[in-house]
Formats: sequence, structure tokens, C-alpha cells
Amino acid sequence: MKPYILLTPGPLTTSETVKEAMLTDWCTWDEDYNVHIVEEIRKSLVALATGHTDEYTSILLQGSGTYCVEAVIGSVIKPGDKLLILSNGAYGDRMGNIAEYHGISYDMLAFDETEQVSVSYVDDYLSHNAEITHVAVVHCETTTGVLNPLEEIAHLVKIHGKKLIVDAMSSFGGVPLDVQRLGIDFLISSANKCIQGVPGFGFIIARKSELMHCKGVSKSLSLDIYDQWEAMEKGHGKWRFTSPTHVVRAFKQAMDELADEGGVEARHNRYCENHEVLVSGMRSLGFKTLLPDAIQSPVITSFLYPNEDFDFKSFYVQLKERGFVIYPGKISQADTFRVGNIGDVYPEDFKRLIEVIRECKY
Ligand SMILES: *Cc1c(COP(=O)(O)O)cnc(C)c1O
Repeated sequence: MKPYILLTPGPLTTSETVKEAMLTDWCTWDEDYNVHIVEEIRKSLVALATGHTDEYTSILLQGSGTYCVEAVIGSVIKPGDKLLILSNGAYGDRMGNIAEYHGISYDMLAFDETEQVSVSYVDDYLSHNAEITHVAVVHCETTTGVLNPLEEIAHLVKIHGKKLIVDAMSSFGGVPLDVQRLGIDFLISSANKCIQGVPGFGFIIARKSELMHCKGVSKSLSLDIYDQWEAMEKGHGKWRFTSPTHVVRAFKQAMDELADEGGVEARHNRYCENHEVLVSGMRSLGFKTLLPDAIQSPVITSFLYPNEDFDFKSFYVQLKERGFVIYPGKISQADTFRVGNIGDVYPEDFKRLIEVIRECKY
């Protein structure tokens, strides 16, 4: 019995079978683990990302999602390159922070947190700044739940002949996309989001021809994606340093469950339904969403505080006692709280949530 379900987008609610997969201890160098589990995962991640599997490869890396974002930025951007970061939230800003730490030459175009990245603004910027070599953007900004217009941005970046890095942490596996069709060079995500695994590692889907330019670029040993990739290729799934074996085993199970559900399209449909039940229910109770529906993702939803005296902590505790854990807001310009729609959670869970909220004091 779960004491409560997590309506938080990472870590999130996982299935019993995903948790059970962690009950066996695995040896990192035994072939039961390397060849069979790690290599299958690497292959199926690429297949999830594109139909053109021969052009791409995947790299698994220990740590949370941010480790992978930092690893990509630190392994891809060379001296002489210049990165353009498009930001409309905390995760875009974090890429700027990473670039600062690494002393990487970059510019940031910052947009309002309640708006999408503006495609025409980016077009204009790239037209006047030829020195930009790479563009980085967050697909779903989990800060608010805004879904950026990835297709349009990617198209533009390609027209201008730049390389594209996408933080698809909270969307990959839950929102359909094809990295080859979009022209994405590096895509980053992690185990504990839409694939519905547990936290412990992240992964990168990389265009092979671009990854080949990353040898020797990273100034970090453990965050060098080229070295990590090379070790995995040569060792047939061997991680350079101790791998999170239990987490990887759980992830394999989660990948199987994603396929059983019907793949990314089917999962996307369920998340959309979760979101729809949540939002219509909340609106019937008088709550308002922070974002207009047109730019809202099915991943996480921000709600405005319903009144001036609203006490988030008390609301949170009442919900937790009744079996639901939600998220506080993450923006400064409005008082909000957030509810995640992803994980092993279903429209029925959101119907129950609405009934529970109806009975709460707020
Ligand atoms: C979860 C997430 C990350 C990574 O956060 P970690 O705390 O390092 O796992 C990065 N970007 C986005 C958009 C996310 O949702």
C-alpha cells in the first residue's frame, strides 16, 4: 500500500513492478547486466527518439538530469564556439548558470515565465549574431508547465545552420517527437520523468556525427559524455564508474511498461486525459490556471492561489493526509502551486483528487 501518490514531476509515482525490479542485486560487469540490460536500454532509447536510429546513439550517465545537462554543455561547446540559451524558466536559467561555471561564451535570451520562447525574436537574434554556433532550449519548462514550440524553434535553428541542444527532461517519452526530423543534435532527459523510472541517472540522445567532435572537449572527467559513450560502446554497456544497477533494472522494466502501454503516443494521450480531468475539475471548484491552455503542457499544471488567505502548507498537508502529494510553485511573479500529470497515475486518480480538494478547507 502506498501512503500517498506523488503528483510531482520527478520523482514521480512508479508502478509496483518498477519498484519490484530493484529487489535483485546485479553485478556491474556481469554480462547479464551489461549486454542484456544496458545495451537494450540504449538501443530502445534511440528507437524512442527517432525512426532514423542509425544516425543517433545514446549515453547513460549517473546523477540527476542536471548532471546530463552540464555534461552536454561541457562536452559540446568548444573554445571559439558560442552558445545561445533560450530561457523562460528556472531550467533555462540553470543552463546559463552551467555556462557561467564552465566559462563558456554564451548569450541568453530571457522570456517571461508565463510565455513561450518567441520564435520571431529568436529568428531576429540569429540573423544579427552570426557568431552563435549552438542553441539550447528547454522543451517543457517544468517551472510553470509551459510547452515551448520546439518544432518551430528547431526549424529556425536549422535554417540558420546552428547546432541544437534540447533539455527534454520532463517531456521525452510523454510528448511525441523525432530528433532526426527536428534536427536535434543533443537531447537530454532522465530516468525519473516520463519513462516512469526511479531517480539515479540521466541520458543523452546524440547525433553520432556531432558526438565525434566531442572527444577531449570536457574539462570534467566524470561528466565527459564522449568518454562515457566510448566506454559503453567498447564495453558493450559497461559504465565507466559504478553504475546505479538497481535504478537501471527498474528503468528497463519502466521501458517495457511504456511499450506495453502502446508507446509514447499512448502515454501522451493518458497524460493529456489526466491533465484534462485535473483542469476541468479544478476550474469547476473555482481555481484558475497560471497559463492559457494554448501554451500549457500535459506534464505539469500551475494553479493560482484561490484567495488572499490561501495557506499552501495547510492545503498541502490536507491533501497529503488524503493520499496526494503536490508541488509548491516556482515563480516569483505570482503565487502558485503545481500538480504533476505524469507518472503511473490515471484519470481516476485525478477524479479522486478533485473530490478530495472539494472537501478541503482553503
Ligand atoms: C527535472 C528537470 C531537470 C533536471 O532536474 P534534476 O533536479 O537535476 O533532476 C532539468 N530540466 C527540466 C526541464 C526538468 O524538468
